[in-house]
Amino acid sequence: MQDTKPHAAILASPGVGHLVPVIELGKRLVTHHGFHVTIFVITADSSSSAETQLLSSQNPNVLDIISLPRVDISGLLDRAASIVTKIIVMMRESLPGLRSTILSMEYRPTVLIVDLFGTEALDIADEFEMSKYVFIASNAWFLAITIYVPTLDEREEDDHVDGQKPLKIPGCEPVRFNDTLDAYLDRSDQLYGEYIRIGREICTADGVLLNTWEDLEPKTVKALRDPNLLGRVTRVPVYPIGPLAREIGPAVSNNPVLNWLDVQPTESVIYVSFGSGGTLSAEQTIELAHGLELSRQRFIWVVRPPLDNDASGSFFNAGNVADGMSSFLPDGFMGRTKNLGLIVPMWAPQVEILAHPSVGGFLSHCGWNSTLESIIHGVPMIAWPLYAEQKMNATMLAEELGLAVRSAELANGVVGREEIKKMVRRIMKDKEGYMIRKRMKETKDKALEALSKGGSSDESLSRVVEDCVIGLQAAGNRAK
Ligand code: UDP
Repeated sequence: MQDTKPHAAILASPGVGHLVPVIELGKRLVTHHGFHVTIFVITADSSSSAETQLLSSQNPNVLDIISLPRVDISGLLDRAASIVTKIIVMMRESLPGLRSTILSMEYRPTVLIVDLFGTEALDIADEFEMSKYVFIASNAWFLAITIYVPTLDEREEDDHVDGQKPLKIPGCEPVRFNDTLDAYLDRSDQLYGEYIRIGREICTADGVLLNTWEDLEPKTVKALRDPNLLGRVTRVPVYPIGPLAREIGPAVSNNPVLNWLDVQPTESVIYVSFGSGGTLSAEQTIELAHGLELSRQRFIWVVRPPLDNDASGSFFNAGNVADGMSSFLPDGFMGRTKNLGLIVPMWAPQVEILAHPSVGGFLSHCGWNSTLESIIHGVPMIAWPLYAEQKMNATMLAEELGLAVRSAELANGVVGREEIKKMVRRIMKDKEGYMIRKRMKETKDKALEALSKGGSSDESLSRVVEDCVIGLQAAGNRAK
């Protein structure tokens, strides 16, 4: 039977960090706006167990999740290709599967929402006369640089990359050379070309949804809409609809990490994690271990086997380390810290940890999901960016919003143990940490307000929904 609800299809890039916000968007469209939502996912042999588990734990009565036909990119890429290049190629190779799957659906979606790496699919939305939106699962500042760089690309001279000057984006905070995405540094690289293409394609959508909220980035959101500023570059409407972040799951009994947290004092534990893919070098892993030990602060550390020169090395499966950790941690570390902290191999229940009252700080790579999860649970941060747009996120958190501390030593490579000890104590013990925690809690309140009924993000998404419903009615009239 044909459903009369509007039907949105969301195309998600591979990787937990991309799936998490897409799933949250889908759930919100279903529960708050009466949509039917189908999420198209792209899986591969390299998909991590965390990804598989995330997908299988979704309620099929809320979301339809369809895996597109598998693509094999092993012959297309050398092993050294960057993680983003791999994702982009997987997305491109999945387009025929997306087209044929939509074609075969009895109850066709009328709206297509794609994430950053899915913009080539916007043509498919045109073919099927669907409304088309891009969901940037990040912040407004990142959208600003993404749509502005194609304009810079048309110029011969490049002060930012060649002269290492800050990148001035009209109406926005400039982006320091050190914070720029690696992809922008080499105009001859394939990835640079892909980002320019994505920046242009975003502007062809009917709208761009952002996982941020008006209050968090008022200046940048204004610039994105101002016809005299960034609005000159693009007329595409922007809708801040966040923060969309994972909620805590059903109570888990007998999780050793949560059981341990239950018996620690309030706000006494620092949680250390670098997201789904972040990986440290061998030397940095040793320094971090010593730094945590020297701080004498309780900790939970999600540990991955170190990799030199590949900060996103664990993005697709990094195997299991449970037995081999002593080979890359300092001699005796596990024994000496057994009453101080917990080492969690590979993966931890992050949202449940951040929501626990015993947690008082988060040393994070500043992936945008982790950032939002920290804000929503009012946990102050130590910003330790590794790759992608994480350095911009860290700058925003530490310098603009005052929600994190960040070490200058990060720019020089390895952060030493004394510096790590100092940062942990700044957040967990010092007046500075107290002030950051206070600001974090105020930010949390504003975030929740934006999402609540009638709040700015709720209203923004309602406007998108209205446009989609009008589109659906128009299509219905055409069909009559
Ligand atoms: N995550 C988790 N446990 C871990 C590491 C990560 O649950 O041990 C989740 C985290 O809560 C977040 C996502 O994985 O929802 C990571 O997304 P983020 O944008 O922070 O970083 P990315 O992995 O994309 O770099």
